[in-house]
This record gives sequence, structure tokens and C-alpha cells, in this order.
Amino acid sequence: MDRRTFLHLLGKGALVSSVAGLFPDLLFGQSAFDLGLQGQELIQNGEYAKAVEVLQKAVAMDPSSDWAYGLLGRAYRGLGKTAEAVDAFRQALRINPEDTYSRWMVEMMTQKPIPKLPKKEKPRSPLELQAEEEEKRVLGRLASKESLEYQVKRVVVDAGHGGFDSGAVGLSGLKEKDVTLELATRLHRRLEAGGRVKSFLTRTGDYYIPLSDRTAVANQYQADLFISIHINANENRKANGSETYYCAEKASNQEAARVAEFENSVLKFDEEFKKEEGFISIEEILFHFEQRMYWKESGSFAGRFQEKFKTDLPFRSRGVNSANFFVLRRAKMPSILLETGFISNPEDESKLKTPAFLDRVADSVFRGIA
Ligand SMILES: [Zn+2]
Repeated sequence: MDRRTFLHLLGKGALVSSVAGLFPDLLFGQSAFDLGLQGQELIQNGEYAKAVEVLQKAVAMDPSSDWAYGLLGRAYRGLGKTAEAVDAFRQALRINPEDTYSRWMVEMMTQKPIPKLPKKEKPRSPLELQAEEEEKRVLGRLASKESLEYQVKRVVVDAGHGGFDSGAVGLSGLKEKDVTLELATRLHRRLEAGGRVKSFLTRTGDYYIPLSDRTAVANQYQADLFISIHINANENRKANGSETYYCAEKASNQEAARVAEFENSVLKFDEEFKKEEGFISIEEILFHFEQRMYWKESGSFAGRFQEKFKTDLPFRSRGVNSANFFVLRRAKMPSILLETGFISNPEDESKLKTPAFLDRVADSVFRGIA
């Protein structure tokens, strides 16, 4: 079996299941990590009850694994057992207070639903009025001088991919998900060390988070900037350089459309965005008014960012482009996606393995934001 087929099967979970069927004890009877992997797989297949069973064994075996507790929380959530889910996510947080995803889950699930407002047959509903107020407020802020000196106070840094979703893979086997985590962690530390910005990571380890949840985390924390870090790949091994993207309905060119298609491809594994009565309606109406403004603001931020970024960055600048990136789509703040270098370019791939080089890239992104 060649590597491509192997990775493909691994991504689909087919290999893990078939090997598990042959040697159940060899693969899954041994460590908490193996049980965690099996639990993650069951969650992806929607087999939540089985996942709970396996993950309970995993946390009993290794009570220090925030990853396993986070998965247990997701499995309980899938079963609709909110109390148990909150408990598991809280445990994950106790072990790793930086686990933003578990924190968000706890906050979301313990939040009381907003009571439904009575419907009125008027030209303007209270919700629409609220949405218009919000629009005026945001427009006012964007138009004022304040926006020129827009101070970023909360940044959510998203390491692209994770878990079963490796992202792009280089010739020597370097995985995009590992490089993005290295870069995101470095950027997070620099932002925090600067002292003027509060930074949050969407993931702190090698696990998968649905695309829609990544921006939902940023929305929940009322972040001022969302930055998703990725590494590009192309069949043309010579392709190189770094690009800054922002979200738009239409791609700015064919290459941008191709990149977005790749980054969105994992979407088929995501659960559909869950609608909650009396909650989503306000969200949707506000969002309808705001989305375009945020995208416009993202475009101008991307431009200013790339101007600074390109003078600093140890890669050739490929400029700013836009496309429909699902991970950015629902952000209620300026949001950008970086493609820093090409993992498919052997020269870039070997650089991306060097801690000193990753430091340089993180420094450039940090200065771009600052
Ligand atoms: Zn990616």
C-alpha cells in the first residue's frame, strides 16, 4: 500500500477499524491513548454510547489526560447528557486551563436559553430593531477615527486541522496539523508575553475541532481578531510563498478557490450547526446585518497585515486574496487565514521542521498583528 492510500484510509478510519477487528487487544487494549483514539473514531461515526464506554476506560486509565476528558464530554454531548458532558469538560479544564474548546463548551452548555419573544405582525420586530441598533453601533465604530487606531485586545489563534484531519502532508511526511500547532502555540506565547493582548488557542493538542466551532469559540470570547494558521500545498512542488486570506462569497481567483476548497474539505465530517430555539433567531438576524461589515473590515485588516508581514517574513509574499473559507464564515470580528509557506515544496518543508525557523515565522505574524 502506498502512503497516499494509507493516509486516505487512516483518514476514513477504515484502516483502524479493520486492524482493530483483527487484533482488538493489540491496538486498543493497551493504553489510554489508544482508547482515546478509538473514542474519537466512534464520535466521528456518531456512535456516542460506545464512545462513552471506551472513553470512561481511557480516563480511568489516565486521569491526567485532558484530551480524553474533552472527548468524553463530546460523547456525552452527542448522547444529549448535558450534566455528564459539562462534568467531563470541567475535568478537562481543571487539567488544562488553556483548553479553550472545553471552556467554551462548559460556558455554552451552562448558559440559559434566551426566552422567546412574542411574534408581532409589525414592519419592525423587536429583534430587527435590536439588529439595527447593533448595526448602527458597529458602523459607528468602524467609521470613527477609533477604528483607524483599532486596538486588538483579544485574539483567538486557530491551529488549522488536528486529530484525524492531518491537513496537507509533505514529501517527507511532515503534517500540516503539527506545523500549525507549533506556529499557533508560538504566536500565542508571544501575544501573551507582550502583555497588551489576551490570546486564546482553539486547540492546544493534536485533536480535531469542527470548523464551525472554531469561530464559535472566538465569538463566545468576543475576540477582536481571529487568525487561522495553515500551510499551503500544491501539486506543483515549486510553488512557494505566503498568503493572507479573508472571507468572501466569491473567490478572488482560481487559486484562491482551490485553496478554500482544500481547507473546507473536512466539512463533511462536521455535524450540522445545531439550532437552539430562541437563540439562533437573534443570532441569525444580527449576523445578516453584520457579516458583510466584518468581511470588509477583514479585507482591510488583511491588507495592512500583509504589508507589514511581507517585509518581515522569511517567505516570498503572494499577497492578499479572498475566498469562501468555512472556518472564517461565521466570525463576528475581523478574521484572516494565513497560508505560511508550502509543505509540498521540499525546501519549505525542511525549513518548517526547524524550531528556529518557526520562531521567525511566529515573530513575523506577531509583528504583523502588533
Ligand atoms: Zn490547512
